[in-house]
Amino acid sequence: MSQQPVVVSGSATHVGRVRDHNEDALLVTDTVFVVADGMGGHASGEVASAVAVDAVRRAADQAEPLSPQALVAAVEEANAAILREVIATPSRLGMATTLTGIALVQGEAGLTWEVVNVGDSRVYRLADGALTQITQDHSEVADLVRMGAITPEEARHHPARNIVTRCLGRLPPDPVDTFLHEPVAGERWLVCSDGLTNELEDAEVASILGQGDDPQSVADALVEAAVEHGGRDNVTVVVVFTRGVTH
Ligand code: CA
Repeated sequence: MSQQPVVVSGSATHVGRVRDHNEDALLVTDTVFVVADGMGGHASGEVASAVAVDAVRRAADQAEPLSPQALVAAVEEANAAILREVIATPSRLGMATTLTGIALVQGEAGLTWEVVNVGDSRVYRLADGALTQITQDHSEVADLVRMGAITPEEARHHPARNIVTRCLGRLPPDPVDTFLHEPVAGERWLVCSDGLTNELEDAEVASILGQGDDPQSVADALVEAAVEHGGRDNVTVVVVFTRGVTH
């Protein structure tokens, strides 16, 4: 017995209405679905996110589906690749990126989901009408919320809301969070940069994510809603539907 999820995906990205370039990057393969949100001056943010996504793409190209360990190793290689880029081009010192996503990895019972996260981009799962944030934000405001110092609503408008406590591009490397999740028919996954979640409340995200049957239309609708709401940041989403699971 080996479980095989049948998945379909869609993705969209938009520079937004305020920024003049898009520092987000995304990766969609048959089994790997990733978003990276770059930071750093002089256009270095978009280099960091692109370098990170390319490292994960190379790993997937070599051995898809990845093992759980190989996915984490790919994220660690993304960190190293950014550091190499900084050594090659010192003006890019300080560039960094978040990276979060899901991948179907080889588990004992067949393919299963592995969620990876470094930074404050997010993975959500919609199942039975309920939206759950699977990743924990690595950010100063998330720490303050966990300590009970501020409410989640205050975090949305807090002046420190953009300060991450973990990212890729650091030495020593920040740890990578991982979560394993059995695939379930009918579930919908959302991988997104904070340009989406800073504009839309969870209820709005859940409503759009649950619409229709086409992941590309859902991805487009999510990005469109965030841009219409203000688009103060780059907005990137990858949407993955688990259509069924064969055993
Ligand atoms: Ca962002």
